[in-house]
Amino acid sequence: MRLQEYQGKELFRRVGIPVAEGKIALTSSEAEGIARELGGPVVVKAQVLVGGRGKAGGIKLARTPEEARAHAENILQMTIKGERVRKVLVTRAVEIEREFYLSITIDRAARKPIVIFSAEGGVEIEELAKTSPHKIIKFHIDPLIGLQPYQVRTALFHAEIAPPLMKPLSDLFFKLYQAFVQYRAQLVEINPLAFADGKLIAVDSKFIIDDDDVPAELAGWEEEELAGSPEERAAKQAGLQYVKLDGTIGIIGNGAGLVMATLDVVALQGGRPANFLDVGGGASAEVMKKALQIVLSDQNVRGLFINIFGGITRCDEVARGLVETQKELGIRVPMVVRLTGTNEELGRKILEEHGITPVASMEEGAAQIVRQFIAPSSQGSELRN
Ligand code: GDP
Ligand code: MN
Repeated sequence: MRLQEYQGKELFRRVGIPVAEGKIALTSSEAEGIARELGGPVVVKAQVLVGGRGKAGGIKLARTPEEARAHAENILQMTIKGERVRKVLVTRAVEIEREFYLSITIDRAARKPIVIFSAEGGVEIEELAKTSPHKIIKFHIDPLIGLQPYQVRTALFHAEIAPPLMKPLSDLFFKLYQAFVQYRAQLVEINPLAFADGKLIAVDSKFIIDDDDVPAELAGWEEEELAGSPEERAAKQAGLQYVKLDGTIGIIGNGAGLVMATLDVVALQGGRPANFLDVGGGASAEVMKKALQIVLSDQNVRGLFINIFGGITRCDEVARGLVETQKELGIRVPMVVRLTGTNEELGRKILEEHGITPVASMEEGAAQIVRQFIAPSSQGSELRN
């Protein structure tokens, strides 16, 4: 789960990492009001989960509340790298004298957290890694004993940090590690970590929390993550894995590997999949209905190929669910269903009785949906990111 900048900054605040005062605005007049309240120059910042907002024009300095309004108006209409901007953070502008980079993430190969620090922040770390790798300092943290003062001192010494900054920077390393541990982070990043007016302050925040271990106090925060197409948002809410593609054949299967294979086989037959949708282990009538609704809400879908490999899942139940849903939703596009597993004969019989084409194999199903219903096309499909 990725946090928005303002959420990450809230967590920074909780562990004592200084951040500039600011508030979220959903409209330009709210932004103006916040700017007036804060007084003085403010920065209006698009709240999206993609990086490089500054370069994309999603971060603007405003000297007056009117200017903040104008910038918010503009930014709230932007889509940055495919993500619609819904909120802006209006925050007191910081007079940056110097920018550092500091992050903690998990080094999977070493099975330890790794601290990454650079006395040259602001720029993207990937860029710095290419141009001046020697300016990046890295060291591991032993998770059993935690971050040690000598490690921080060594890092700051190598980075040639002047003595007066040693103590405040060192304190910040410890607070960031506290946030990393306390909030079950996979990544915490401050870029830039600014030196301004004699103090250190986090000007940006990036937080990725382990989805399998989200702390109770962050329950509900993940709503913020619901980016993407309306179909993708609906799927996420229903607990289904859905990726929109640009073809015409809706695909539903159980198991990510099976669905990937189905996409390939359909593409091989000359069809173009409209989506990836994995209903997971249980293909109950309820789940199938939700899945069909999501797939069919895509206007490009001209046919459906459902590929269910039943193990414990009873095929007659899946078939009944499909028939029910077909009636209920008034599905008119052709449907080809491959069902194997427990009670498969019964399942196929139920489908046939209701005008749905049952097939015995994935290859046959792909050929059916492509040749019978869809005008053949030589184009393949590509997963969209
Ligand atoms: P990002 O582009 O998504 O990484 O967003 P950031 O919040 O890091 O902002 C991008 C850049 O804008 C920073 O590296 C700063 O150089 C600049 N910036 C952001 N906020 C302020 C601020 O309050 N004062 C100043 N002087 N610069 C800022
Ligand atoms: Mn940044």
